[in-house]
Amino acid sequence: MQLNNKTSNAAVTKKESTENRDNNAGNTNIMVEVRNLKQYFPVGGGIFNRKLVKAVDDISFHIERGETLGLVGESGCGKTTTGRSLLRLYEPTEGKIIYNGRDITHVKMFPYRRKMQIVFQDPYASLNPRMTVGDIVGEPIDIHRLASGKKERNDKIINLLEVVGLNSEHANRFPHEFSGGQRQRIGIARALAVDPDFVVCDEPISALDVSIQAQIINMFERLQEERSLTYLFIAHDLAVVHHISDRIGVMYLGKLVELAPSHELNFHPVHPYTKSLISAIPCADPEVCRRQKRIILEGDVPSPINPPSGCRFRTRCPLAVKRCAAEEPPFREVSSGHFAACHLI
Ligand code: SF4
Repeated sequence: MQLNNKTSNAAVTKKESTENRDNNAGNTNIMVEVRNLKQYFPVGGGIFNRKLVKAVDDISFHIERGETLGLVGESGCGKTTTGRSLLRLYEPTEGKIIYNGRDITHVKMFPYRRKMQIVFQDPYASLNPRMTVGDIVGEPIDIHRLASGKKERNDKIINLLEVVGLNSEHANRFPHEFSGGQRQRIGIARALAVDPDFVVCDEPISALDVSIQAQIINMFERLQEERSLTYLFIAHDLAVVHHISDRIGVMYLGKLVELAPSHELNFHPVHPYTKSLISAIPCADPEVCRRQKRIILEGDVPSPINPPSGCRFRTRCPLAVKRCAAEEPPFREVSSGHFAACHLI
């Protein structure tokens, strides 16, 4: 994959960040903050059989202006739920979501939809097959009344298509006439149509061919610089997240287990789960590969309906001790700007 070197000023800002989640009051550089977010979903029929899937269970973090915070973890760890809860596409079970210093946990979201957008994972399912590309991109412009007439609307649509590498001829076509990468570009143009400042990128390249992934990642980086965007970038590929992110959070079974600046997390991970994820990244240099020890985790991820007591990772952790079953490790700052939840750190 050919990727751009990231040079945004935002990167500097982010890497300087050492703010603890509880020390953020008054920090005007924070765009989005999540405090003790819980997102439980009821499953099972009837009142007596009802169980709760604890998709996200008491996590806190913040994202600074111009920053890209990567969120990684296996399928079902709660990263997508976190992104969607943050945009209030799900109503949080507990906790607070703060955007630009305002608690938006229980407010009407319409005014905020303009500023908080999402690019979905599946470019095939996220576009209405009956609408032309022009109408797909134009719909948010109409909803938020951002054009005073037909000409302004059309000009905006064409400009957005050009921004994402398409052109005016594409406006009258339908989604099925495009490749996966082009469809994702349409999804990005739709998200940009309302001129947002915060975008949740929910596994935006997972469904694309490897050859296209680098183009889309480079485009995300260019758009961030041009439009001063702030991203929550969700993915399961740690190598990609490492490239695009300023800081990275690692989730396991609904919990945030480690959060650190991207370079720090990649080269000095402290949590056993993060170490296993990093050891699984393929390396290009045979010398490095020989030195690198692969950590293979035993077993499957437990059910979020009935997670293990204490540390949720203990059933797969090669370092687990007795205390891990009895006590949940606190998520604490282990070095400047580096947070982790493990009794042994
Ligand atoms: Fe492993 Fe225990 Fe640390 Fe959890 S708290 S990661 S089980 S050593």
